[in-house]
Amino acid sequence: MKTYRFKLYRSKKNKKLHRLIDVAGRIYNHLIALHKRYYRLYGKHLNVNKLMQHMTKLKKRRRFVFWNQLGSQAIQDIAQRIERNYKLFFKNQKRGIKTAPPSFKKIKKYKSFTLKQTGYKLLEGNKIIIMGNVYKYSKSRNIEGKIKTLTVKRDFLGDIYIHLTCETEETAVEPRSGKSVGLDFGLKQFLTTSDGKIIESPLFFKQSIKEIRKLHRILSRKKKGSNNRKKALITLAKAYKKITNRRRDYHFKLAKELAEEYTIICIEDLNINAMQKMWGRKISDLGHGQFVNILKHQCTKVGTMVVEIPRFYPSSKTCSKCGYVLEELSLDVRSWACPICGAVHDRDVNAAINILRVGASTLGGEGVKPASAGILR
Ligand SMILES: [Zn+2]
Repeated sequence: MKTYRFKLYRSKKNKKLHRLIDVAGRIYNHLIALHKRYYRLYGKHLNVNKLMQHMTKLKKRRRFVFWNQLGSQAIQDIAQRIERNYKLFFKNQKRGIKTAPPSFKKIKKYKSFTLKQTGYKLLEGNKIIIMGNVYKYSKSRNIEGKIKTLTVKRDFLGDIYIHLTCETEETAVEPRSGKSVGLDFGLKQFLTTSDGKIIESPLFFKQSIKEIRKLHRILSRKKKGSNNRKKALITLAKAYKKITNRRRDYHFKLAKELAEEYTIICIEDLNINAMQKMWGRKISDLGHGQFVNILKHQCTKVGTMVVEIPRFYPSSKTCSKCGYVLEELSLDVRSWACPICGAVHDRDVNAAINILRVGASTLGGEGVKPASAGILR
């Protein structure tokens, strides 16, 4: 599978797509309300098939006729997405991780809808028909493979992007043999490798905070509803977008380097929501979740294997030399000595070595060559 992302040309017609996204948002909220009501009445989770049967009836009612603008596949996709989020929520609850259940969204902030086989068609050149209208997009690369889904997405500047997911011929990249590594993600350092490399991530948001604050101040002085206020809003949104883009570029570059250097990369299965609860906004500025996705993508391209180890493995507290597990290790302790074997550990490097060891052991040791001698004892 491969996803292409293209920006649509700005056009008056884009309003129609914005309207469809609004419709998707209203449907989303309606379905959330149904879930909540069902739970209140029966104390059970509303199953997605049941929900869909009910929706088929709803669409025939006058009040909900506008739902049909979007087509049944897109509606189905919304129901399935909610289902996935609920499943994740229940799973987290079982594991004792507190996260919020899926909830209502402001229509303005609702971002996308997805079509499966119907409702769109690619034309020659850079044109695409979406729900009966022709749009132009900036075609930065050729599309390969069979298109499975089209997602129409808007950003906060009002620009519209299309995401095409394509099934590509399995060009199975042969796994290479070579060095393996464990990565430990953190707050102090963005990541630490088991062979002792420390990679700091620039906090892109923090770097620009002065500029962002200034733009917020300018905005607050503009009269509500005025054109100047609109302009100031756009400038602010652009500044935010620049931060996101810079972070993304940085992640791509780093992921590519790692994927090319190592052949097996072991990481912890991250729960970003839980991390966010614990550590606050800094974690979203670092963007570990986005980085892991990009890393996986880069790795499949070059035939590097990514091994995820369970999150609850105590990678920081375990001595990587003798396997002794400390009872406690507070977050501010950067290095420690093992009371059993006496080895002195840098907190993050030790964690990364453990992550590598556990990851490698799940592979049965096959083809695993430690990045530095003695790690896999
Ligand atoms: Zn030890």
